Amino acid sequence: MVDRSYFFNRALLAHKWHDNVRVIIDANGKFSKISPNATKQDGDSVLDCVIPTIPNCHSHVFQRCMAGLTEFKTADNDSFWSWRDLMYQYANQINAKQLYHIAKYAYSEMLEAGYTSVCEFHYIHRDLTDNNNVKNMSLAIIKAAHEVGISLTLLPVLYTQAHINGSQLSPLQQRFKLDTDEYIALYQTLQKQLFEEQNTGICFHSLRAVSLEQMQYVLEELDKRQPIHIHIAEQQAEIEQIQQHTQMRPVEYLYHHFDVNKNWCLVHATHLNEKEVKHIAQSGAIAGICPLTEANLGDGVFPLPEYLQHKGHLAIGSDSHILINPFQEIQMLEYSQRLHKQQRVIASSSSNRHVGTLLWTKAVKGGAQSCQLPVDGIQIGQQANWISLDTSHPLLVNLSGEKCLDSVIFANNQIPYQTYLKGKKIIPMQQSIKENYKNTLKSLRN
Ligand SMILES: [Zn+2]
Repeated sequence: MVDRSYFFNRALLAHKWHDNVRVIIDANGKFSKISPNATKQDGDSVLDCVIPTIPNCHSHVFQRCMAGLTEFKTADNDSFWSWRDLMYQYANQINAKQLYHIAKYAYSEMLEAGYTSVCEFHYIHRDLTDNNNVKNMSLAIIKAAHEVGISLTLLPVLYTQAHINGSQLSPLQQRFKLDTDEYIALYQTLQKQLFEEQNTGICFHSLRAVSLEQMQYVLEELDKRQPIHIHIAEQQAEIEQIQQHTQMRPVEYLYHHFDVNKNWCLVHATHLNEKEVKHIAQSGAIAGICPLTEANLGDGVFPLPEYLQHKGHLAIGSDSHILINPFQEIQMLEYSQRLHKQQRVIASSSSNRHVGTLLWTKAVKGGAQSCQLPVDGIQIGQQANWISLDTSHPLLVNLSGEKCLDSVIFANNQIPYQTYLKGKKIIPMQQSIKENYKNTLKSLRN
């Protein structure tokens, strides 16, 4: 493959918009040269308005097959916990082949939606038919991501107990169970199975599902310079559980016992007091926010303005995949704040007044940090991935880059756009991927 060149009339680079950006893409599909205020040259492919793709910091890919199927009443007071029971029913039916087909479909949807990398928080370890085989399910994910072309950070999850008091996992949680030595062995095995543009990270399900000693042991045995992910403070009930047991709130407890730094991604840092907001922001860790899933599950509202005030880093995840669309994630993140605060334009600063541009650039930077892959936007040395907005749409006529992005987020989710991966337009999802997904659903919904 020879070097290719593009000319963007407007493009969102690391922090702000630039006009007349000429980029060169090398044979490995990375940006080798980026020149703002340049002149178009013969052979350049021209695009009008370009933004970076967003890294997806949190995915449980199997949950895509149950999206939309839990929107009915099962109890007087439906909650995250009643949803979880339904989710466990699916988790206990899926075999490795089915997971592979679900992942191929959902990862293809992600590429089309504008995510070009994904952190897969994977906890269904035990094979459905061979209980001792704990790697087949992970291998299905590695293969699916590679074939689709999305970059993958595989996060095999350590999950050992049902409660912070150490009580045993329920029968429906048995497929998730690994002891620490099994975990380390699996981790090392998977590292040898990766393709280019894939890596691994250490992952603890939550403070309720893994003991302090187990976390310490794993962090001593494995390289701590990799991504380290954990569900931290999603539900009030788990905050209370941790408080009753430790006399500390989850974030407080984590920071008390571990050197939490920029390698950590605290997923669902939803319920935070002021001190915890400061802890996370000052440590450089990522708050992994999943606005649509958190809304769907009734989790609560992340303290965004306070977190931004302390210059905290954040990333966006599609988590349960109730919808796969980064624009709608950003919309929900901002709208939840407006409803909560009874104010408008929350995510804004003196240097960046536009909500879309501020949240998008933060999600790109934080997302790249959460996966530690070269997906940090339109910068030299990063994968040449971007989204080209279709400015021929009536809603985008005669608008600046900032206003185009705000319009796609807030004004119309039907404005067409095209994802580019390593300098090339992604191909539409193959018919065989759809058919295999449909057949998988038919067997799971029997
Ligand atoms: Zn999750």
